[in-house]
Amino acid sequence: MLPIRIVAIPTEVAEAVRATLRAPVYGFPAHAELATDDAPCRHCLRTIVANKDRRILFTYDRFAGVESLPQPGPVYVHADACSRYSEEAGFPEELRGSPRTVEAYARGRRLIALEHVDGGKFEPAIEKLFSHSEVDYLQVNSTTAGCFTFRIERADRLSLR
Ligand SMILES: [Zn+2]
Repeated sequence: MLPIRIVAIPTEVAEAVRATLRAPVYGFPAHAELATDDAPCRHCLRTIVANKDRRILFTYDRFAGVESLPQPGPVYVHADACSRYSEEAGFPEELRGSPRTVEAYARGRRLIALEHVDGGKFEPAIEKLFSHSEVDYLQVNSTTAGCFTFRIERADRLSLR
């Protein structure tokens, strides 16, 4: 398996949203509530559990730090402090059970290929997408809701940010 780096949103972003209840960059109001359904936190990449955990919904540019052309969309984080997912920890096990679309980009936000993964076998899809020589990074999004979940980089190359 190709060594990969799992890149969740930066801790500074999660902390700024919790402190201000505003979206970074955009300033749009963020919304805090008790979760009404299960969804992944984009910072710890663990499940925000319905009727148990509080969550904050805010607007985030899924290309932040990587591309100059933004594409903002809605994401969730835990409303309470959580630990950022370790970049070396491999594909997040808590996200394996839900259908995700893995998009392969070259710099300049050029979409080269994509794979719909349903059934948890993400590693073969990741390997296949990185086999395209043009691909610089992958984005993992929810297939059902379309929202950005996290980025994957090749660990044998320099970090993108
Ligand atoms: Zn979290």
